[in-house]
Amino acid sequence: MEAKNLKISIAHLYPKFLNLYGDIGNVITLKKRCEWRGIEIEFDEIDIGDPISDHDLYFIGGGQDKQQQDVARELYKNKENLLTQRDSGSVFLGICGGYQLLGHYYQPFDGEKLKGISLLDAYTVAGKKRFIGNVTAKTDLVAPETLVGFENHSGLTYLQGDTKPLAVVTTGNGNNGKDKTEGAYYKNVFGTYLHGSFLPKNPHFADFLIELALEKRYGEKIKLSKLDDTIENKAHQMLVDKAY
Ligand code: GLN
Repeated sequence: MEAKNLKISIAHLYPKFLNLYGDIGNVITLKKRCEWRGIEIEFDEIDIGDPISDHDLYFIGGGQDKQQQDVARELYKNKENLLTQRDSGSVFLGICGGYQLLGHYYQPFDGEKLKGISLLDAYTVAGKKRFIGNVTAKTDLVAPETLVGFENHSGLTYLQGDTKPLAVVTTGNGNNGKDKTEGAYYKNVFGTYLHGSFLPKNPHFADFLIELALEKRYGEKIKLSKLDDTIENKAHQMLVDKAY
């Protein structure tokens, strides 16, 4: 199928609470890369208390522990709905604090454990140290294989079962600073510690998510047309070069 007369629905979950280090850039990138190809976007911003109808792609950003508390409560009310959507192929991208809540729980350093929605078989426990800095990682999911971004977290994430690492870190700490893993995925659910923003600097990964969302909607693979990514690739390459 050609990328003509196509449409996808995108929901940004709780942007007033979780939106650190320009995470909104991820949503802008998704919207623009669709718009540039003539793909129509149906876009919803979901706030606390809003019902969540079915969408092809969900984005949830990062935030401080305090904001995560409010979101965790709300997200949990929608757990069954979002699990059903995961199982029907909806695409999710969670960054840092949002990623942590896509797992089973986040245990802050002090304070109550926050329940996650178990879209990923993963859990997070706050450590004593903060991981701050640029990250480069390699993934099998896209070409080129490098992913770049900026991490700032004290949560240490551990993956289990069928949930696989999104990438292996080549610079930086990633999930927990020990096992070299960065981020996670299961079905079409992706989590990463990479702010930066992530998708503007990794346009190949943005297209990968758009293709999955289109496939979910239309039930067949759709190859996206090429865009001129000279500037995006420069930003990506600059971080790769800096790391070595
Ligand atoms: N509270 C989390 C942590 O520090 C998330 C931080 C973030 O989203 N940047 O681990």
